[in-house]
Amino acid sequence: MSEWTLDDPVVDDTLGHYWLLACAEEIFEHMEKQGFHEGTFNFGEAIALIHSELSEALEADRKDLVSDHCPSLSGVEEELADVFIRLLHLCARLDIDLGAATSVKMAYNRTREYKHGKKY
Ligand SMILES: [Mg+2]
Repeated sequence: MSEWTLDDPVVDDTLGHYWLLACAEEIFEHMEKQGFHEGTFNFGEAIALIHSELSEALEADRKDLVSDHCPSLSGVEEELADVFIRLLHLCARLDIDLGAATSVKMAYNRTREYKHGKKY
């Protein structure tokens, strides 16, 4: 995981940032225990797996599915959770601090024009 300190000016949500780092660490450790770190890391494969979870979320919405594994979740909730898990796993593997990166990007986005100058 990347180094980060409370003095970092780009991070404006300290509690949320620690929570995100803790999630990424827990996911990384779980995936390692489950054998997902065996073999050669493939960035394209990791991106494709995130995309596959987004596609599953779309299908869950189209078919109004409920979760197969977690009765309290809708299918969309389950699949978006999978997206989040796979994204944080990728960030942990690449030593990317997603909270800090998001803070920097949002600081930029707040300077952009309405709809970022696009139709939608
Ligand atoms: Mg899934």
